[in-house]
Amino acid sequence: MTARKPMVAANWKMNKTAFEARELIQAMLPELKKIEAVDIVLCPPFTNLSLVCEQIAETDLKLGAQNMHWQEKGAFTGEISASMLTDFCDYVILGHSERRQMFGETNETVNKKAHTALAHDLKPIICVGESLEQNQAGETAQVVETQCRESLQDITPEQAQNIVIAYEPVWAIGTGLAATPEGANEVHRDVIRPVLRDLFGTEIAEGMRILYGGSVNAENAGELFAMSDIDGGLIGGASLKADAFVAVVKAAAETL
Ligand code: PEP
Repeated sequence: MTARKPMVAANWKMNKTAFEARELIQAMLPELKKIEAVDIVLCPPFTNLSLVCEQIAETDLKLGAQNMHWQEKGAFTGEISASMLTDFCDYVILGHSERRQMFGETNETVNKKAHTALAHDLKPIICVGESLEQNQAGETAQVVETQCRESLQDITPEQAQNIVIAYEPVWAIGTGLAATPEGANEVHRDVIRPVLRDLFGTEIAEGMRILYGGSVNAENAGELFAMSDIDGGLIGGASLKADAFVAVVKAAAETL
């Protein structure tokens, strides 16, 4: 099996003023800088991209945005384009469940955004995951498969190498109720990876990273990241505290 370098991405969501962002970065950077075994991506709000970019300039840490529009530019008040992000970012989170639930994001818009992001050399972190109702109705596999296939429509195998998938069951996000390592791994290994294989071929699918997100913390990260097809995490709440985030990244480093 292809060795995949673990990745941990921090989703700060709508948190941190400039002052708070600087404080958080200064608290965690000394430790994060030492961890070479993990690709670390920080995704602050748009307003902090420039500041965080400066703070991590001399490090291997990467920057990501939490969303973008698929259009190049124009009359889209309040939106941000890919070319505005490439000034700072290597990654962009697309289709986070909060955007799907509250801001009308669909697989179709995620797909348009993925194409635009890739055309601008931004690497999409595409989020998929079932709701509690869908989980309880036994629909997880079907929902996640459809989200993957529709979000990845017309993506070429070559482009896919720059895509990261994040499996984030909606019921696990911000609830303190993480999926079990076995449960999450089952979705990664038996649902998402087979779709990637079908779309892009075995070699490329084996090299693509599938992150788990949903109440990952310093205590449960090690067990989750030790699973065969969990290649790291997308971290919300625990990424807002230096100690917790550093512990999660260290847990990912130990899975090597
Ligand atoms: C997220 O925001 O993507 C997330 C996984 O949040 P949390 O870690 O707080 O559940």
